[in-house]
Amino acid sequence: MTNLRSLLEQTATRFKAAGIESFQADAEQLIAFSLGISRGELVAKAFLNSEFTAEPSLLALIDRRANREPLQHLTGVAFFRQLTLSVGEGVFVPRPETEAVVSVALEFLRSKPNAKVLDIGTGSGAIAISIATEAGVEVDAIELSDTAAKFARANIASNKARVNLMVGDFRDLELGFGEYDLVISNPPYIPISAVPIDPEVRDYDPDLALYGGEDGLDLIRDIEELSQLLVRSGGMLVLEHADGQSDSVCELLLANWQNVKAHPDPTGRLRFVSAIR
Ligand code: SAM
Ligand code: GLN
Repeated sequence: MTNLRSLLEQTATRFKAAGIESFQADAEQLIAFSLGISRGELVAKAFLNSEFTAEPSLLALIDRRANREPLQHLTGVAFFRQLTLSVGEGVFVPRPETEAVVSVALEFLRSKPNAKVLDIGTGSGAIAISIATEAGVEVDAIELSDTAAKFARANIASNKARVNLMVGDFRDLELGFGEYDLVISNPPYIPISAVPIDPEVRDYDPDLALYGGEDGLDLIRDIEELSQLLVRSGGMLVLEHADGQSDSVCELLLANWQNVKAHPDPTGRLRFVSAIR
């Protein structure tokens, strides 16, 4: 027998010791998820300090998170902009910096109600579904991994989004040349030798979602080349990239694109580029 307040404190302390940066938020989210209540309700209940016995299933979840399984795999959901997306083993967990990448696309699409958009490497569908639902436009989305595509399909259906999912390598699919007002991608871009430190990324995000060859830019180069054909004149290309790749990606675009712009993420790091065809 314990009480919620001390369970919450002990869990947060354990997560902190395990090296989890967002230890407090994760402790709250995981316990709230297990009790089937909101985070706000949990904090209110913990304040009352009533007796509480944790179920073995909750203790098991806490163990798994302390062993650095991603929170989103344990709860089965990831929050992205206005969406609650189903995620799990075999699909990339969408990141907050990608929310800002979507903002640039939405700004561009504001004056284009009938725009056609392509999201390359859609994963859970985060970018494609956000654009389809927030801009009210039609989005084509490509994903190579069958497992990721299953999550994308479920998320497209549950959000009733106008997204056409295509499964395959973007380099092999037949796509309409000059058809797109916007091509957007958060492709794999980590150099093969720069294995991430965080176990949640290294051990749980699929390798196919992370690594982009020797300098990380293999897919970015291929997407840029293909997009020269796919994007109509005056249309936009938006590419997320790693911290430190901005100059290389801008240079890559300067030959065939106009208005090449480097954009910072909310923490001020240059993490994506937009350009006009
Ligand atoms: N767009 C999602 C997001 O932002 O959360 C997922 C991004 S994840 C970093 C990159 C995605 O590209 C992965 O789902 C991966 O499976 C997919 N991918 C990798 N190579 C691909 C290829 N050649 N063709 C299509 N998709 C590919
Ligand atoms: N942003 C991811 C990370 O946290 C990398 C994803 C990618 O390669 N697109 O490492």
